[in-house]
Amino acid sequence: MRPFSYVMVKDLDSALRAGAPEGAKFLGGGTNLLDLMKGGVETPAQLIDVSRLPLADILALPDGGLRIGAAARNSDAAAHPLLRERYALLASALESGASQQLRNMATVGGNLLQRTRCHYFYDTAFPECNKRTPGSGCAAREGHNRMHAILGASERCIAVHPSDMAVALAALDAVVQVRASQGERGIPMSEFHRLPGETPQRDTNLEHGELIVAVDLPAARFEKSHYLKIRDRASYAFALVSVAALLRMDGDRIAEARLALGGVAHKPWRAHEAERMLRGLRLDAAQLRPAAEAALEGARSYPGNAFKVELAKRAVVRAILSAGETA
Ligand code: SF4
Repeated sequence: MRPFSYVMVKDLDSALRAGAPEGAKFLGGGTNLLDLMKGGVETPAQLIDVSRLPLADILALPDGGLRIGAAARNSDAAAHPLLRERYALLASALESGASQQLRNMATVGGNLLQRTRCHYFYDTAFPECNKRTPGSGCAAREGHNRMHAILGASERCIAVHPSDMAVALAALDAVVQVRASQGERGIPMSEFHRLPGETPQRDTNLEHGELIVAVDLPAARFEKSHYLKIRDRASYAFALVSVAALLRMDGDRIAEARLALGGVAHKPWRAHEAERMLRGLRLDAAQLRPAAEAALEGARSYPGNAFKVELAKRAVVRAILSAGETA
């Protein structure tokens, strides 16, 4: 590991000042960043530990929404009574991620910033990885790509974003609140993570020096939801495919739906056309299938992950049917 300096900050202004220089990086729970540093993938000159900032509260907002502080631990967020009551989808997604020990350490802000688990990215013995070393190539395209993207990838990178929480937040239309020395701004979840395009080294639209301070959820208005995660083992595994489904019903028909997919793209993948097609449908697998086909429109697979296309379609149908069965 390369030498670096470390400072723990106790207030926001100190954090923003300390995080401004090139080479400085904020540290939350450290469950991903420290692994990357040990492997030589991330080499910050200075770590600014923001895990003790007073940003761990989870509070009801006046408009009926909920604010989750960026330093809230994943396990605390998942167990919070208001979050469980109003946003069962998010609690379920949080609980499906990693292991209990990791959820006890990982923060909500850090969860959004975790990096892909593409093994070529983590293993510096492989010289080809545009995300780690821009311009070097992409070993996954011709290599082991079972876990990789089928939607929105580019010739430069076919990695997927690994977070479960972020998939639920995308379906919920959450807004990420960030602070810099110049002020504060809110970034809709749909714009927070990026597709790889020509610059796969950039995972998000955060600027250097900006710190995530909270995630805001709009008032809950979907009475039914389900987070379906399909993975190789029952726990401590990243999604091959996941689906976050939210439904508002009018009798036995879908009045409104929200769908986001995980494990398929470089960012949580909202399926807007499928959402539109679901309006007015009954909860019947055959009726739902065309919307699932639309959700995977434009999918492109590689030899190792061709199975994901049909798997994702079936997962969309199953997630909607499971959401329909919730009380
Ligand atoms: Fe690197 Fe992306 Fe290719 Fe993986 S998929 S090797 S992260 S460029």
